[in-house]
Amino acid sequence: MALTRNLIPWKPTHVYGIQTDTKSFAVSELMPRSDDEIVVIFDRKLSEHYFAWIVPRNSHEFRIGIADDANVWVKFTELLKIINAEQSKPFGGKIIIGGSPSHVVAGNVAIIGDAGGFVKPMTGGGIIMGMLSAKLLAESISNAVKEGLSITDALSLYDALFRKYIRGMVKALGSASYILHMMINRSLGNIMQLMSKVNVVVEDYDNHIDAIMKAASRRPWQFIKALLAVVNELSLIEPGRINRLIKDTLE
Ligand SMILES: Cc1cc2nc3c(=O)[nH]c(=O)nc-3n(C[C@H](O)[C@H](O)[C@H](O)COP(=O)(O)OP(=O)(O)OC[C@H]3O[C@@H](n4cnc5c(N)ncnc54)[C@H](O)[C@@H]3O)c2cc1C
Repeated sequence: MALTRNLIPWKPTHVYGIQTDTKSFAVSELMPRSDDEIVVIFDRKLSEHYFAWIVPRNSHEFRIGIADDANVWVKFTELLKIINAEQSKPFGGKIIIGGSPSHVVAGNVAIIGDAGGFVKPMTGGGIIMGMLSAKLLAESISNAVKEGLSITDALSLYDALFRKYIRGMVKALGSASYILHMMINRSLGNIMQLMSKVNVVVEDYDNHIDAIMKAASRRPWQFIKALLAVVNELSLIEPGRINRLIKDTLE
């Protein structure tokens, strides 16, 4: 993004994330119960606008991290203290959670990965989406070459694929992510309680729409109540913010 932001300007929504690989011998309900379990902590006192995570790596070894829009270092050290983890070498950076450029090609330059907003906005996960963008670009070039087309045509094809299949989805999920992480506060606790102990099996762990729809069908009434709690909270938010969100999504 540092290299291309002058060529393809756009404004991503982001939070800052810090994580570390460390040890913890804490016995607490926050810790994963097995090596197959990932703990995600939604606690507005810990992370006001995002979440924290504890991912098992090995016996008593974990990747522990947190993201938020401000004071992340303080919150990160607080999290380590809560679960009694050693402070090892931290690493992290910006996590993109929304926004999308209008195009991913300018002249003979094509962008892939975070720089082009190829992320899953609900979690900021950009590894699979980044690889997908690289594959889309590679296949566009290889197909264009096979057809005897020019490199300009190949890049136009990549841009067209991005606009047709990726951009709309990222923008819609970006708005949902903005509502979940940045706007709702009180209703988050309600949702967690209403939907607690709902188990859903999904083929793709990162397919959030599928997971939400399955959870909704498991407990339709609770799901509607949860939605009403969100709508109720959103109705108290200054209308200009919601209008801006709708405008951005439609653009
Ligand atoms: C704390 C944290 C946790 C995350 N967890 C997950 C996760 O669990 N799952 C997931 O899918 N995603 C996760 N992500 C997001 C994921 O890391 C990114 O989406 C992904 O790394 C983006 O890959 P990229 O190649 O597009 O960009 P980057 O990985 O950012 O690569 C860009 C590279 O460009 C280099 N660079 C910058 N400026 C210059 C310059 N001027 N000249 C030369 N090189 C330059 C940088 O050093 C960097 O190596 C996480 C991000 C953070 C910060």
